[in-house]
This record gives sequence, structure tokens and C-alpha cells, in this order.
Amino acid sequence: MEINFDEIQVIGFDADDTLWVNETYFRDAEEAFADLLEKYETKNKIDQELFKMEIKNLELYGYGIKGFMLSMIEAALELSNNQVSQSTLSEILNLGKNMISHPVEILEGVVEVLERLKGKYRLIVLTKGDLLDQERKLERSNLSEYFHHVEVLSDKKEKNYQDLLDHLEINVKNFLMIGNSLKSDVLPLVNIGAKAVHVPFHTTWQHEEVAEPEGKSGYMTVAKLTDVLNYL
Ligand SMILES: [Mg+2]
Repeated sequence: MEINFDEIQVIGFDADDTLWVNETYFRDAEEAFADLLEKYETKNKIDQELFKMEIKNLELYGYGIKGFMLSMIEAALELSNNQVSQSTLSEILNLGKNMISHPVEILEGVVEVLERLKGKYRLIVLTKGDLLDQERKLERSNLSEYFHHVEVLSDKKEKNYQDLLDHLEINVKNFLMIGNSLKSDVLPLVNIGAKAVHVPFHTTWQHEEVAEPEGKSGYMTVAKLTDVLNYL
């Protein structure tokens, strides 16, 4: 659906799987986790249990790698009926630590898009997850110079966005969000009257999956990030 970008003054970018690769490392860690526990359960069952554990713990730990590590340990204890070895637990911790120290891989087109949009719009980063981890990734990405403001939110619901826009004195009419998650980066914005562009990434965490709503206006889906340059 075409949308009118005439009033846009501020553009918010999601970070994980919009500016840089993220979800792929979680998929890899889940694979490795299932391999470590293969003597206790089938891969499918391990995947399911880990996901359930993450969702159960989300309210306690929030999003991010550290919470994921704790959920892997708890799932390993449950799946093994507390029989999992200390060396396996230590390998699980290493899976998480390797994720945290992984080099940042900037996605294709990101630098080109930021170069073209800087100066023309006020650019900000709106991400959720672990504050320290996100700050570290931004620093390693060398993308900080493009952004006026970076906000790490505990969640990305309507209220989180509205509070932030109020705080930054941005009128919703002037705001456009760009991100890979329909659930977190697109629909909440459209629901509060802002605009959004959805740039799907090839893999989406189960928890972020929602059905494409019918007849909803205010956002568009593009195949790749650089496509936004046709409109902005
Ligand atoms: Mg994302």
C-alpha cells in the first residue's frame, strides 16, 4: 500500500535484523543447544521447551541474550530432569557468551540508506533488549554518527512508543518507523497514528510472528531496505 511521506520529519530505525544481523545467531545457538541435549530429548521437543521457557521468563528477564542464557540453563535442567552435567551447563554459558561477543554484521544497504537520509530527516534508533548489549553493538557498528538519539526500550508496544515520542516532543504525524518486525516495529506505530515501513528479515523469532492484518493503512512492506529511498 502506498503511503504519504510528505509530513515525515523523524525516522526511527529498529536495530536487530534491520541495521544488523541478530536472529540468525539465536537460531544457531538453539541448534547448538539441541545438540548438547540430544541424549535427553528430540530436537523438536528441545526447541519447543526452550521457546516455552523463554516466554515464561520474558516478564522477569526482558529481551536479550542474558535472559536467553538463563532460559537455556533452566530448560536444560528441566529436559534432563536435573541430570545435565556441569560441563554441558558451562558449554551453554559459552553459547551465550559467544553471541554477546560476536562481531556486528551490518545488513546490506544500511550505510547507503543512512547516508542518503541523514541531514534530510532526524534519525533515531529504537530497539529493545539488553541495554549494555545494544550499546555495545551500536558502538561496534560505527553507525552512531548517523543518529540523533538512541533508545533501548524494555518493550515495543503502543504505550512505549507514545511515551517516547511525547518525551522527544515528536508529533506522531511526523514520525516514520522502519523495522523487520510487523508486531513490534510496524503495527504499534500505525495504531498510534504514525507511519511505518516493514522490511522483513529472512528469519523471525516465533514470538514476533503475527498475521498480516487486512486493510490496515499507514504502512508498507518493501523487499529490501534500499527500497525506502524510492519514497523518502
Ligand atoms: Mg528487529
